[in-house]
Amino acid sequence: MVERFQDDGSWIGDFSDEVLVVCPRCSGMATLTAVKDKDGRTAEHRRVCTSCGSTHTFGQVADYSLWLVTECKGNTLMALNERHLDYMESYVKAELREGNRDGSAVYRNKTVASRLPAWIKSAKNRDDVLKCIKRLRERIG
Ligand SMILES: [Zn+2]
Repeated sequence: MVERFQDDGSWIGDFSDEVLVVCPRCSGMATLTAVKDKDGRTAEHRRVCTSCGSTHTFGQVADYSLWLVTECKGNTLMALNERHLDYMESYVKAELREGNRDGSAVYRNKTVASRLPAWIKSAKNRDDVLKCIKRLRERIG
């Protein structure tokens, strides 16, 4: 059974509505969510920390450190959230990678899969990358 990966055209923006970051107060895991207005535009951002219970709402996204960052084979592997991890994992696991059926090169370049760095896509790094993804997953708890 060959695992297939269908590039569904997900763009990095699809994952950015909820981002796991380091809480500036307690260094625990906090969630940054985009609060949309009625037109679907991002009106403000809200940071909620499950460790210290602090919440903060603000307009512009301040400089936050991502929670899901790890060193992997001399490179930095990072993910915005668990869905992003799932996505990378399914990509790396897939033996057969299918291109986006949309066919537009410009569109294809915007997908998360096509934007993954070459070292993540490399077959020889596969097992290591999967281990790193597992390590990041443990940080979510
Ligand atoms: Zn906190």
